[in-house]
Amino acid sequence: MKIVGKLALVAALLVAAPSSAQTTSVFSAGAESAIQSVLPRMIAWRRDFHQHPELSYEEVRTSRIVAAHLRSLGLEVRTGVAQTGVVGVLRGGRPGPVIALRADMDALPVTEEVDLPFASRVRATYNGQPVGVMHACGHDTHTAVLMAAATVLSQRRSEVAGTVIFVFQPSEEGAPAGGLGGAQRMLHENVFGDLHPEVVYGLHAWPTPTGTVTIASGPFMAGADQMNIVVHGRQTHGAQPHRGIDPIVVSSEIVQALQTIPSRQMDAVRSPVIITIGSIHGGVRYNIIPDRVEMQGTIRYLNPETRDDLYARIRRTVEQVAASAGTTAEVTIQHNAIPVVNPSEATARTRMALARALGEQNVLTDQPNMVAEDFAYFQQGQPGVFFFYGVSPPGVSVADAAPNHSPRFFVNEPAMETALRAILAVTLDRVGPAQEAASP
Ligand SMILES: [Zn+2]
Ligand SMILES: [Zn+2]
Repeated sequence: MKIVGKLALVAALLVAAPSSAQTTSVFSAGAESAIQSVLPRMIAWRRDFHQHPELSYEEVRTSRIVAAHLRSLGLEVRTGVAQTGVVGVLRGGRPGPVIALRADMDALPVTEEVDLPFASRVRATYNGQPVGVMHACGHDTHTAVLMAAATVLSQRRSEVAGTVIFVFQPSEEGAPAGGLGGAQRMLHENVFGDLHPEVVYGLHAWPTPTGTVTIASGPFMAGADQMNIVVHGRQTHGAQPHRGIDPIVVSSEIVQALQTIPSRQMDAVRSPVIITIGSIHGGVRYNIIPDRVEMQGTIRYLNPETRDDLYARIRRTVEQVAASAGTTAEVTIQHNAIPVVNPSEATARTRMALARALGEQNVLTDQPNMVAEDFAYFQQGQPGVFFFYGVSPPGVSVADAAPNHSPRFFVNEPAMETALRAILAVTLDRVGPAQEAASP
């Protein structure tokens, strides 16, 4: 991890020179020069966002900068969509389809450990605890890349055959208790107005090699829900457990029993499931058995048809393990995200557009993973395609790279040029001058 840190600094210092990996461009000469001229600004926006990260639904500064920029480009801009979300509409110079591009803007309660001149020093309160705030998931880059894409496309407006909706979403990192996450809330608040996009694209920073993108059709990312469990006991002296009910022992049995659901009860190939208990709280003193224990966990699944059955099994396990000890326990499940499933036809077309712009060897395919993304909700009313772009510096393997949400998560900034070219390529595949050649 030390090596990663050093590479991080070197790469950050080298970043001012844009990558010239793409020697032949699929973009027009005008678009190519617009790309080149926006690159330094894109990096500057990203560094500014990185240094001033904001937690979910608190993206006030970020959305103000985004909205001001979109207005300066002459886009129709709506603010306050899902509290801090921003929507910009670019109407091209020629008729054509409507498409939407989505970026998320929020940061995480993580204290940055990357040694960067623009590292975050921001602190905030999260769930009552003092925390650092960091763009540990790369949403700073998503926002800056989409601002750059809006810049290029608005400069080439006469070449755009159709309408492009730019969606800057708040609160991707989990819904607040009892509330909706940013994607769902934007959709509830009619994010597209009276426009009907034929496709929505989204992308995400991922610790794979710089210069590559990763895309696959079918299940791509998991559904993720939060589980809260309360185990009721009866308080007693630690030396006289028989006079009470020990919720700590019951909780430890529940934790173990829950693990047999993915490993012994679900089809591991067709319906992969992960259940993780991430916090346990109970008791205040070493020799007192407490009254109750509270646990929190996350449930991940890939197959949408699995969900109801899975939740029934979780409830049954928790309640009946408690019953076996003569007590009760309750489970409440808060829905966060459904699985990201890339539709096959739109994904094949996207893949071809990416291969033309980036080179076939730079478009990777991978198995689905159990991380979640609420982009999934943008795939409900219309086809939506989601893909990753690699952000690891050269020479850093996937195994060595700090994962998303790590205090050492690092974006190699030249990767953002790949992301910009990727998002422009899939956009112009639908609304650009070369879209006739794009049909699969
Ligand atoms: Zn994240
Ligand atoms: Zn993310």
